[in-house]
Amino acid sequence: QPLVFSGVQPTGNLHLGNYLGAIRKFVALQENNDCMYCVVDMHALTAQLVHEDMRSQTRSITAAFLAAGIDPEKHIVFNQSTVPQHAELAWIFNCVARIGWMNRMTQFKDKAGKDREQASLGLYAYPSLMAADILLYRATHVPVGDDQKQHLELTRDIAMKFNLDFMEHIRRSGYGIDITVGDEPVHAYFPMVEPLIDGPAPRVMSLRDGTKKMSKSDASDLSRINLLDDEENISKKIRKAKTDPDGLPSEIAGLSNRPEADNLVGIYAALADKSKADVLSEFGGQQFSVFKPALVDLAVNVLSPITGEMRRLMADPGHIDAILRDGGARARARAEVTMNQVRDIVGFIY
Ligand code: ATP
Ligand code: MG
Repeated sequence: QPLVFSGVQPTGNLHLGNYLGAIRKFVALQENNDCMYCVVDMHALTAQLVHEDMRSQTRSITAAFLAAGIDPEKHIVFNQSTVPQHAELAWIFNCVARIGWMNRMTQFKDKAGKDREQASLGLYAYPSLMAADILLYRATHVPVGDDQKQHLELTRDIAMKFNLDFMEHIRRSGYGIDITVGDEPVHAYFPMVEPLIDGPAPRVMSLRDGTKKMSKSDASDLSRINLLDDEENISKKIRKAKTDPDGLPSEIAGLSNRPEADNLVGIYAALADKSKADVLSEFGGQQFSVFKPALVDLAVNVLSPITGEMRRLMADPGHIDAILRDGGARARARAEVTMNQVRDIVGFIY
């Protein structure tokens, strides 16, 4: 049975990258799959330990899920900390994963800053908790932005090593499943997750620097379009977005070595549900003074209904909390099934 899982951290204002790379895919996947969408508040502690607004950020992200069209009755919307089994499985994965694997993670290198000795152990172990988020439900498909690709490869490595380390216990437990890895049949407990990272804008870049990804935690608000930005703000940010002096090329090849142009074309394509090639056949040869206003109109058209609905939902925090409570209870029931089996496989008396 396919199961979709993904998470978003309550670390700041959601932006266009989160929408195109993640949330919009969450919405599309609901049609044919059982989906679980999680506000990963425990992960947010790795960005900043003491938050004044963790609760309001958690509600705001939940509101964005709902406003974008996620159905919390057919699917499960919850916040991570209400299901303590995430932390429990993460501990076991900390003992499965190798320090050498963690040392290769580029997100840690980016976020730890210069003085790595002063980074928290939580930031270092982030990918292990993320593997637990996904594998706790034995999820098979994970819609994410391109920046999370490496963490998903690590999730597969952790699943694989658990499956091999506990092979005999899994066989005796009777909880195993037959999967194929490459072409090899393997009797496993955890499935090999598949990342879903497609589309014309898998990594939306900063509007100020085409070599850096758009991020919630970027100090410059001009670097991103927030889901809560109004028309005036969106227009200002796109007008000010960094570009080179040339016009738009007519073919994709003309975008190479032009990261800012490539980024804006990718954003347009994703918002319009077109390919980059289609966008260039429409705008090739035009100047940014023509393309940018068209992009503003398109962005406002796509985002403003979501913004309006988010604001409406956020006016009633009690309603949002009730949705999270309900989702949390349903997630806990599933999590406990897995953890009972994992405790048994590992050899804990329970
Ligand atoms: P932070 O800077 O705090 O890490 P973030 O913007 O990276 O915030 P996350 O909560 O870490 O947001 O990620 C949520 C989802 O959004 C993930 O699936 C991630 O891959 C996706 N995502 C984040 N930034 C981008 C981006 N610039 N382009 C496409 N997808 C993105
Ligand atoms: Mg991130």
